[in-house]
Amino acid sequence: MSKPRTITEPSRQIPIIAEADVVVCGGGPGGVPAAIAAARHGAKVVLIERYGFMGGLATAGLVAPILAHKAHAADFAIVEGLLREITERMHALGGAPCWEDTLKVWGINFDAECLKIVLDEMCQEAGVALMLHSYIADVAMQDGRIAAVLVENKSGRQAVAGKVFIDATGDADVAFRAGAPTTHGRAWDGRPESMGSFIHLAGFPYPDAARKKEIEALVEAEMAAGRLSFYNPHFLNRNDNQLDHTSANMTRFGGDPVNAADMTAAELSIRRDVWALVRFLRAHVPGFEHCYVQQLSTQVGPRESRQIVGPYALNGDDIHLGRKYPDAIARGSWWIDIHCPLGNTYPVHLCRKECPKGTDCPFYAAEYDRMRTYEELFPPEGDWYDIPYRCLLSIGVPNLLSSGRCISATHEGMAGSRVMGTCVAIGQAAGTAAALATQAGIEPAAVDVNALREALRRDGQLV
Ligand SMILES: Cc1cc2nc3c(=O)[nH]c(=O)nc-3n(C[C@H](O)[C@H](O)[C@H](O)COP(=O)(O)OP(=O)(O)OC[C@H]3O[C@@H](n4cnc5c(N)ncnc54)[C@H](O)[C@@H]3O)c2cc1C
Repeated sequence: MSKPRTITEPSRQIPIIAEADVVVCGGGPGGVPAAIAAARHGAKVVLIERYGFMGGLATAGLVAPILAHKAHAADFAIVEGLLREITERMHALGGAPCWEDTLKVWGINFDAECLKIVLDEMCQEAGVALMLHSYIADVAMQDGRIAAVLVENKSGRQAVAGKVFIDATGDADVAFRAGAPTTHGRAWDGRPESMGSFIHLAGFPYPDAARKKEIEALVEAEMAAGRLSFYNPHFLNRNDNQLDHTSANMTRFGGDPVNAADMTAAELSIRRDVWALVRFLRAHVPGFEHCYVQQLSTQVGPRESRQIVGPYALNGDDIHLGRKYPDAIARGSWWIDIHCPLGNTYPVHLCRKECPKGTDCPFYAAEYDRMRTYEELFPPEGDWYDIPYRCLLSIGVPNLLSSGRCISATHEGMAGSRVMGTCVAIGQAAGTAAALATQAGIEPAAVDVNALREALRRDGQLV
């Protein structure tokens, strides 16, 4: 094989445009709460986000509802604090139900545009310095610690220096660039869960329950015949908050979210799948002649990619057994929800022992002994599992914390902890820990966990 051709990048002086106590990298469900919490605890905070708005997959991915705010199969909250405040502020703007009503249903439905403005306002009120439209491209290291992250934006390459860095990029971009150990997908072959985009469709009279069933059965028949490619046919699902369009979670792509070629292929493949559906509906379903794509996610959403390696990795047994830890800083209740890493493998939903593909799937054939039965995927009823503070620390870089879906967890652990209610709770803890560390002039690993837990409780969090 021929050696890849290379180009030498000229060495440059990069201006330090901001110096903060805490630099939050990524403005999704794991990042924004971290920035708000750190700023409210008195830290000077910069939040860097590649898009022109915050919310991560909750806005750019159109992902809804926010899950795991309450215990498994029960109606009491396990996450409050900033999640409750964000929900109540969206409720005040008509963008979410009131908190009490969210406890009666399985997730918190919300309007993504409303979430954007609420997050803008909360960050600004807390004094977070926002740096939008800025992509973190690299880090500058000094004595084994991160001295600055290097961002690319329309102004050029700029450095943001800080004392503690919180990696909330979802993909552990900062940890990876810093040379900290990271993992990727399943331990035995590196494959992550499949990714997906949400679809909003409009332009047709919304059918009653019986007609809905009939129309989705038509779509399912097309899927079974291989003419449409989705993992479920429920394109008529809606978000209670927005009844003028559907909100469907039915697309999938099996690939690597930290590989640009795979991400490109994913976007093209999902758009093709969605337009095949629209063409089918227009041609074959009365009333859908003018059906249109009202909105598709800004980006295909990764469920899992790179994660930092911490002193502890949340795992499947923690979830299934509802384990509690003395260094708990957040609670989760979502189950081991592994979307088939191979992508659109209809009728497969989850990677589990009852997989309908059976030995037709090479991974099933090789990994049967490591797989769980359906019952083994869930936490105990009326219970939750703890997220230990150790899952947020990096074993490689002392001034790095992680938040959201790139904390230290196994493939099974991440399948539960990745949902947004848990990410917000983790974010609040990461930001509070970072502020305590910078105030005391210590590394995050040296933060007194009891003091951290006490601060979180004072701020309304349930730990
Ligand atoms: C198809 C799908 C369905 C899902 N369904 C649900 C559901 O129903 N309910 C639920 O609660 N969860 C669901 N999830 C999971 C959930 O959306 C994510 O796990 C969660 O959003 C993770 O939050 P995060 O902040 O860690 O990462 P993200 O939401 O990915 O946010 C990361 C942020 O960092 C920014 N960023 C990334 N890299 C850089 C960089 N280099 N420089 C600057 N900025 C950067 C991104 O733009 C983004 O704003 C779903 C996920 C997918 C993909």
